[in-house]
Amino acid sequence: PRVRDIMNRQVISITEDEEIRVAAKRLLKDETNHLPVLDGNGTLVGIITTYDVSKAVVTDGKLRQVKDIMTRKVIKTTPDEPVDVAARKLEQNNISALPVVDTTNRVVGILSAIDLGKLFGGRR
Ligand code: SAM
Repeated sequence: PRVRDIMNRQVISITEDEEIRVAAKRLLKDETNHLPVLDGNGTLVGIITTYDVSKAVVTDGKLRQVKDIMTRKVIKTTPDEPVDVAARKLEQNNISALPVVDTTNRVVGILSAIDLGKLFGGRR
């Protein structure tokens, strides 16, 4: 199977100039752990997770915006990528989700370890 077969198309994202507090609220409300970060043009520029928000709380109080704490070097996948290749990216980088991008770096889905679990006969 390919990434497009199991990715989640309902992507909840955030823009880079939002306040960290807004990111925290969105993570809580939507019960997700990953928010792809977009610039004003809707292009993927980073990713922010509950881990990053927690870290910001215990460190510098001057960090205010998503762009201050997001991870800029995003590890991503594409709809056509074989699922096993994507799974290896998760494992090798110790992460649990990959934004799925099209050729113009727009986010068209998100692939999480949970989606991969569904491949192995888990319940939906
Ligand atoms: N070792 C910790 C753990 O096991 O919970 C951290 C896991 S992971 C390395 C945490 C970091 O990965 C966060 O800073 C987050 O922004 C980053 N991250 C998560 N998904 C990512 C992705 N697809 N590409 C790049 N960085 C990602």
